[in-house]
Amino acid sequence: MRSDTSGHASGGTLRLMAATVFEPAQIDPFRLPHDVKPIRYDVRLRPSLTNASFSGTVRIELAVSAPANVFVLNADELSITSCDVDGRPATWELEPATERLFVTPTDTVEADTSVLTIEFDGVLNDKLRGFYRSTYIDDDGVEQVIATTQMQATDCRRAFPCWDEPEFKAVFAVTLDVDDDLTAISNAPEVERSRADGRCVIRFADTMVMSSYLVAFVVGRLETTDTIDVDGVPLRLVHVPGKGHLTEFGLDVGAFCLRWFQEYYGIAYPGAKVDLVALPDFAAGAMENLGCITFRESLLLVDPATSTQNERQLVVDVVAHELAHMWFGDLVTMRWWNGIWLNEAFATFMEVAACNAYRPDWQRWTAFGVERSAAFETDSLTSTRSVEFEVRSPDDCEGMFDVLTYQKGGALLRMLEQYLGAERFREGVSHYLEVHSHANTETNDLWDAIEFTSGEPVRRIMDSWIWQPGYPLVTADLVDGALELRQERFRFGDDGAHEHGVNSSVEAQLWAIPVHVRIGDTTSTLLLDGESASVVIDTEDTTAVIVNAGGHGFYRVAYSDALRERLDAATIASLSTLERYNLVDDAWAATVAGRMSAGELLGLLGGFGGEREHSVWQAIAIALRGLGRLLDAGPAQDAFRAEVRMLASPTLDALGEPTGDEPDLTSKLRGLLVGLVGTLGDDIGVQARCREWFDAASTDPTAVDPELISAATSVVAATGDDGTYDLMRERFLTGPTPQEQLRHLYALAQFDDESLIIATCEFAMSPAVRTQNAPFLLSAAIANRHHGAAAWAFVRDHWDRALDRFPSNTIVRMVNSVTLLSTPELVADTTEFFAAHPVDQAAQTLEQVLERQRVNARFRGREAARWNGGANR
Ligand SMILES: [Zn+2]
Repeated sequence: MRSDTSGHASGGTLRLMAATVFEPAQIDPFRLPHDVKPIRYDVRLRPSLTNASFSGTVRIELAVSAPANVFVLNADELSITSCDVDGRPATWELEPATERLFVTPTDTVEADTSVLTIEFDGVLNDKLRGFYRSTYIDDDGVEQVIATTQMQATDCRRAFPCWDEPEFKAVFAVTLDVDDDLTAISNAPEVERSRADGRCVIRFADTMVMSSYLVAFVVGRLETTDTIDVDGVPLRLVHVPGKGHLTEFGLDVGAFCLRWFQEYYGIAYPGAKVDLVALPDFAAGAMENLGCITFRESLLLVDPATSTQNERQLVVDVVAHELAHMWFGDLVTMRWWNGIWLNEAFATFMEVAACNAYRPDWQRWTAFGVERSAAFETDSLTSTRSVEFEVRSPDDCEGMFDVLTYQKGGALLRMLEQYLGAERFREGVSHYLEVHSHANTETNDLWDAIEFTSGEPVRRIMDSWIWQPGYPLVTADLVDGALELRQERFRFGDDGAHEHGVNSSVEAQLWAIPVHVRIGDTTSTLLLDGESASVVIDTEDTTAVIVNAGGHGFYRVAYSDALRERLDAATIASLSTLERYNLVDDAWAATVAGRMSAGELLGLLGGFGGEREHSVWQAIAIALRGLGRLLDAGPAQDAFRAEVRMLASPTLDALGEPTGDEPDLTSKLRGLLVGLVGTLGDDIGVQARCREWFDAASTDPTAVDPELISAATSVVAATGDDGTYDLMRERFLTGPTPQEQLRHLYALAQFDDESLIIATCEFAMSPAVRTQNAPFLLSAAIANRHHGAAAWAFVRDHWDRALDRFPSNTIVRMVNSVTLLSTPELVADTTEFFAAHPVDQAAQTLEQVLERQRVNARFRGREAARWNGGANR
């Protein structure tokens, strides 16, 4: 798509942070020395599902490059019962603070090879990390236990002692010693079965050399689908009994993606088989264990007949994401966790690309605009971080798994791909994987590979995006017969609450921005890498100028008045969907930042009455819901509701009733508008219809279009009474699919009744709600439009219980909706609380949440008085 580079830089210089130099391993207490390295692990584990415990033996072949008096590896929450080195007993010591194990052989081990054997016991924990316990209730009402693993990032050391850093790649040979009636799977195919002590001993084939965080084993009463042969790769889906009818869609997606990625990368699938495993309890979304990919049930098991497009797209995204990792991540792996962002950013990019190939009609790259906006939102804060940064401790590492890693990282790769052209980008990726197969890399290795195949200054461009925080606003103006583009950092404003380090100093930040400009039918590309650049255009011509043409740049655009006047209704209608999305999204961000008033924003939204694309309406809905938050009950709120109805109802009416053969995005848009008009617009007619759809679906789940059922569930909850609440809770408990269960679960957070919201919070703390979902339910309750403060008070008062119960990575997600509590009293309350209750594993994310809350408080302070006083009407 990129054709030429016609821009010129003027003024300013590109200011980059030097690549971080990491401390040598010898003096960093979290890092392991490199003079002893694992080559091969033979791991044998004997889990007891009834006692929630396991015992194990690991035999590790080592390459020793210098005489060693002590072996330093990782182990945590394990009880070591014996250690020997080359057949002779050794002593050992565990250091819990750094999760390390020190093994001292009787004699110095001279340089060469050595064999370390360790016996140990452990507990199958309930914290969804390491080797852990998941449960389900079977058809006879009996609780069944699954022993399963989640090693990333640093929890393999909780399953068996190991060199638990991604750079220490080795072969893993797993043997599981299990009760006869259980299914057992691991990364590689089963190769041998024998019996010992009345149990079944299952040996799996050797893996390729890989990092410890990719090891997996799953044991339990499970069912597997028939194996599909995908051009020689066996593919199955594994699930708890009774859910086989929800597997067809996931298998189809899996087969499609396996083929698509082999073609894209130009490299055969690196494992021997693929099992997609749906687990009842899972802390993250899914995990790319080589050949044994684990998922939350709702992200793999789905009924196409009763699910929404969004629910199915999630399954496609996540299956594609994990399969993309089999090459990018598993075959080629970051050297250290500072590189996790590239691993995840790339998988995010590929999940969208693969989904776009699987279902072109879903316009996945356009829908990605919303995910990019989520990254913009955090990246507009002073407390944002650079995409790549130094990682030392496990807490630092856990903090990497955020919106900047996934969504910003993925959006930056999309921008680069659009600048180079898809094929040149693909060639570079393929070259990178080819050159570094089975090895570890730094971020630069990818840029160098793409630079090698494309001849473009990829490293210089990307360094400006990944080593500095934030992102640019590009302003466009007409100056002296030319189009002038200027860049500056976009911010929501600064309340002075942050210490200003080097990243946010007064010195202007600059990015190397690939800018696509379209005038009429001509698109040109320039690299804006100084403060400004000018493009000579025909100033007599009054054709509209579109900056960020195509819409994929990771920057916002502000047009001068003269250029904005050229964007008349006809021009806007002729833009691509993503370009129109960006117009709305940029305007909403400008409003939050105080560059535009809410009144001006509403004026702009008024021009979108004829809009028919779901993505654009999604941006409009986000803006309207944000504005709705500023209003107190009363005439101003009534007037605003009328305005929402006036804007959205004509499109809803024009869509009419669902037809069996309409595009998925049409049905999806209808659902979105029903939700918008039914709740924010408070439209009594739509609310009544929602109740009809909801009731009809209770007798026949296929009687009503799933998009309408899903929207109706929210509307019915938001307007429902105690009886409706009980019905929703019952449907959560008995729903036939994971998606229907979750719809009703999260609907419990939408009722307009404080006692019901408190009941929801209490329900979240009960065993009826899995700990993988409970933190998100509490977050939804805090986001309740009317009773969020009460939900926040509940979470605050149950903080210790929540910390004790919920997976560590979900704690900050539980409270991220306090951003919406924007009164001065609530800002003071949350600030004071978190000063006394830090969340160490997500310190920076929490800081961002609190800053975003203050941004909303300032926004409210600016706008609310005017609104509630009627000045905006
Ligand atoms: Zn990933």
